[in-house]
Formats: sequence, C-alpha cells, structure tokens
Amino acid sequence: MQGNRFDWRWQLQRHIESLRSQGVLFVPRQPSWLPAQQDSSNPVSRNNAEDPGRTAGRAASGTAEQLAGGSAPIPPAAASPGQTVGKVHSATQPLPASLAGRQSAEQIAQGGLFASETCTEASLTKEDRRHALATLAEEVSRCRRCEELYATRTQTVFGVGPLDPEICFVGEAPGADEDRMGEPFVGRAGQLLTRIIEAMGFKREEVYICNILKCRPPGNRTPTVEECRNCFPYFEQQFTLVRPKHLVALGNTAARALLQTTAGVTKLRGRMYEFRGIPLVCTYHPAALLRDPSGTMKRETWEDMKMLLRHMGRPIPNAKGDPKQQ
Ligand code: SF4
Repeated sequence: MQGNRFDWRWQLQRHIESLRSQGVLFVPRQPSWLPAQQDSSNPVSRNNAEDPGRTAGRAASGTAEQLAGGSAPIPPAAASPGQTVGKVHSATQPLPASLAGRQSAEQIAQGGLFASETCTEASLTKEDRRHALATLAEEVSRCRRCEELYATRTQTVFGVGPLDPEICFVGEAPGADEDRMGEPFVGRAGQLLTRIIEAMGFKREEVYICNILKCRPPGNRTPTVEECRNCFPYFEQQFTLVRPKHLVALGNTAARALLQTTAGVTKLRGRMYEFRGIPLVCTYHPAALLRDPSGTMKRETWEDMKMLLRHMGRPIPNAKGDPKQQ
C-alpha cells in the first residue's frame, strides 16, 4: 500500500491525531516516515517503513499509559445499579476536534495544522473508511509489539461488523477458537454473546465486535498492562473509523481500558458512561457468565443490556431478561 496516495493521507492523519492526543502543538512539514520523503540512510526512518505501526504506537503511548496506569479517577458512584439510565458519567475526554471536519492532506502537509480544528477522519467517505480499516487490519497482522503474543499467535483477530453500527461490543482478547478462525467471539462465549445480541433485538451481523487485544495471550491468560498499552492505539483507530453509536465493554480488561480505571466491572456495571462522547455500558464478559452456575451474572448482564436499550430508546424484547431463554 505504500506509495498509494490515500494510504499516505491516512497514515499522516493517524500520526497527527496521535500527536494531538499528547498535546503536541506543532509538527514538522515532512514527517520522516512519509513514503516519498523517507531518508534511507536514517535508521529510524527505515524501521518505521518496515513497521508503520511503531510510529503510531509510540506517538499514542501517552494515552495508553494513562489507560494502563489506572491513576485516573473513576466516575462518581451512582445510587445503585440501573438507577442512572439516561444519565451519562463522563470518564474519558472527548476526541479533540476529531468529529469536527477535516483538512485536506495537502493543507496538513503545508503546516498550520493546529491552527484549525478541522483535521479529522470525520469527512472520510464510507469507502475511505473501509479501505482505511483494511489497511489498519493489515498493519495489525504484521504487528510484533508484544513479542510473546507475536510468537504464539496463529493470526491476529481484528474485528467484524458494519461501519456506523448501533453497538460495538468490545471484549478482552481472542481465545483459542478465535485465534484459529481469525474472528472475534466465535467460541462458546461468542455463541452466548450472539444470543445476548439477538435478545436485544439485533442480528449479530448488525453490530461490530472486536477486542482490546488483537492477539491471543497464551493459555487465555489475562493480558498484561504492557500488552494493553501496546494494542490500545489500534483499538482507538478502529473505533474512530467504525464510528459506533454505542459501546459495550465486556469484562474487566475492556472496561478498564475504555474508562482508564483500575476498578473492576462488578463496580462499573449498572451505569452509563462515555468513551469519547459515545455512550458506554460495562458488563460481564460472556466467558464469565459461562462460569457462573448461579445465573446471577447473566441476570445482571441482561439488566445492563436493558439499560442500554432504554438509553437507545429501543423496546426491550424479553421482559424476563434472561438471554439464555431467547
Ligand atoms: S496484541 Fe496488539 S500490539 Fe500486541 S502484538 Fe498483537 S496486534 Fe500487536
């Protein structure tokens, strides 16, 4: 894809958004990693050309460190789960200017970037976004940021679903089935997630599904903080391109990553939050539901989904609220 004009523009925009998220107010006119302007004698340029994701990863690490550090305050506690329907707890900062229009790549390259609030992916066409997502998925497939995961994965698992979905479900990381098939949530937990989605009145193919990590941790262990930090910039870019209208964080890893907190999902569930201006609900991971013989977690998950449906202004298909009965 290198040398392709669109790819050049996309890479530049992502780089700029990452810098902006760190508070950078000025960028040089000719970023060293631009294909047509690379200096082959510069080892940094050579490395970035071999793995474009390294540049984006370093640039976005400030955000990821905040995410992984767990020092950010968690949202104020609600009176009780389910009582704050319609009220949104803002736990993260909205994307600065990312939804406010976009300069042309030529304008960006001419400098003066941050004199305007119009540099964003917001005006990309759907075709542009599909193309950019495919490019991002390709970049992810070559990623080696986490040495152990790179060495043990069968393949990366990027995400599935349409652009502009009503809901994007975000899990932790691929499991064995997902690692083998290259699609998120296709094992037992995935089948339960599909039932939950259908209980909500959607088809699986109508929602977007992805994970914070794009590679399977060996033995399905919990991802490390560093692994989450490494992979979160990919999720950020994916989120920006997919543009879901609502988010559901499934389990501790996703909830903590999206809310920049160390609190567990048991405390976080039952309330509405925001991730960059998008309504967010945290609930249990379907794999945890499978390990809960009491059914309590299933009922609480359904309460969370009903809360989201009410927030969306949609009918609640099953008043009993048990996804297993769907
Ligand atoms: S988990 Fe993410 S950051 Fe780590 S190697 Fe896989 S794609 Fe790269």
